[in-house]
Amino acid sequence: MTHQPAIPTLTAADPEIAGLVEDEARRQAEKIRLIASENYVSEAVLEATGSVLTNKYSEGYAGKRYYEGQQFIDQVEQLAIARAKSLFGVDHANVQPYSGSPANLAAYLAFAQPGDTVMGMALPDGGHLTHGWSVSATGKWFNPVRYGVRKETGRVDLDQVRDLAREHRPKLIFAGGTAIPRTIDFPAFAEIAQEVGAVLVADIAHIAGLVAGGAHPSPVGHAQVITTTTHKTLRGPRGAMIMTDAEHAKAIDKAVFPGLQGGPHNHTTAAIAVALGEASKPEFRDYAHAIVANAKALAEALVERGFDLVSGGTDNHLLLVDLTSKQIGGKPAAQALDRAGIELNYNTVPFDPRKPFDPSGIRLGTAAITTRGLTPEHQPQIAEWIDRSVTAAAAQDEAAIGKIAGEVRDLLATHPIPGYRA
Ligand SMILES: *Cc1c(COP(=O)(O)O)cnc(C)c1O
Repeated sequence: MTHQPAIPTLTAADPEIAGLVEDEARRQAEKIRLIASENYVSEAVLEATGSVLTNKYSEGYAGKRYYEGQQFIDQVEQLAIARAKSLFGVDHANVQPYSGSPANLAAYLAFAQPGDTVMGMALPDGGHLTHGWSVSATGKWFNPVRYGVRKETGRVDLDQVRDLAREHRPKLIFAGGTAIPRTIDFPAFAEIAQEVGAVLVADIAHIAGLVAGGAHPSPVGHAQVITTTTHKTLRGPRGAMIMTDAEHAKAIDKAVFPGLQGGPHNHTTAAIAVALGEASKPEFRDYAHAIVANAKALAEALVERGFDLVSGGTDNHLLLVDLTSKQIGGKPAAQALDRAGIELNYNTVPFDPRKPFDPSGIRLGTAAITTRGLTPEHQPQIAEWIDRSVTAAAAQDEAAIGKIAGEVRDLLATHPIPGYRA
């Protein structure tokens, strides 16, 4: 039972860390991973991430570096860029941001001044911290205006977006978020941004894989700037990219380097290139559509069991469940589910009366379980396990939770993950 690729040298050199890596690999294999932002990358991506490219400094961009010895690094980065441009159909791509949060910071640095008004979705409604939430630098250094979802529909309130944009005339408008179960209407956001002269930033961190695979409409042609992580539905290494039209390319490149960062993480760049190569294959289109089919099947099975879904269902990989009717908070439910072998996170729901650290909801996503080959036929069983776990947690029945964990392990034994061999 070992991590793949195998780690014999690490095991000999540092058994303490190697043991923890092995434990984590087994844990990932033995859990139903429903964390909406997580996935299992291929062993090819893992190998690129673990390569000697981590040894190289290469501040700057291909052909304009500040260190010698870029004969191969330049080619790696240029391949990653070419693959991003071709996969998403964009004029320009920057593959250097260290992660999603610095990628968004680069958009601020490129197109706003400290104190300027910026607009994004409120965190409790599904926005990201970096879209101007108060505890984030983006909320402290800029003047954030926040839109949300409609109470009746659980969907983004585009009338509110338009009204707020007209009133406050933000420099930047962020479309996208971390807990949005429905299709994002990029053309509608673009119309509003154009009317008020704002730069529209589509943050597709969660849905990039669905966009690449044709399972969610693309923001290309609507948003001038597109930021994304590479490690969620896109199924690459932890990292990020910023894609732009020709007009906004230079400002973004300058903001990433030298504006915010030093040397790019070349091992990550190589792994991003590998993941983009995988995402351009026909099988990835099937994968993206299978993610959505699984999410819809899971949503339907949960609704049948009386669970209350924000917006009533899902169009993408993500489900937000309000547990109020099940008489349990999101946090105790998530903890019980983890003990039952089902891994997810507690989450605020829109208009949540409870505190963010002890909110009413849980968030689920199907990107990772789709990677390991679970299909819509498995979703009623997963919904049943979730239902039984939540009921057992409310009744403090640990034996019932333990029994579910065994059943989960039995199912997953026949659905291996990349990265671990049983
Ligand atoms: C995950 C996420 C980010 C941040 O990514 P990190 O890599 O965790 O910094 C930014 N925006 C959205 C919408 C996200 O979902």
